[in-house]
Amino acid sequence: MTANRRFRNVTRIGHVQVGTAYDHRGREKHTAACTAPRCNFSADYDSRAAAELAARTHRCPVR
Ligand SMILES: [Zn+2]
Repeated sequence: MTANRRFRNVTRIGHVQVGTAYDHRGREKHTAACTAPRCNFSADYDSRAAAELAARTHRCPVR
C-alpha cells in the first residue's frame, strides 16, 4: 500500500489492508488498499466500518 502516508490502526482483511490516516486537510479518513500484485484497488472512506466492509467485499481480480 502507499508507504508514504502515515497509517494508524492498520489491519489486514484478506489481501486488503485498512488503515486510518489524516488527509491534507487534517481530517481523518479510512483507506482500503489491496496488496495483491497488479491489483490497483484503493479507496478512501469516511468511516472505518465502510473501509472494512469494502475490504471484506473486495473481489480481487488477482488470484
Ligand atoms: Zn485486489
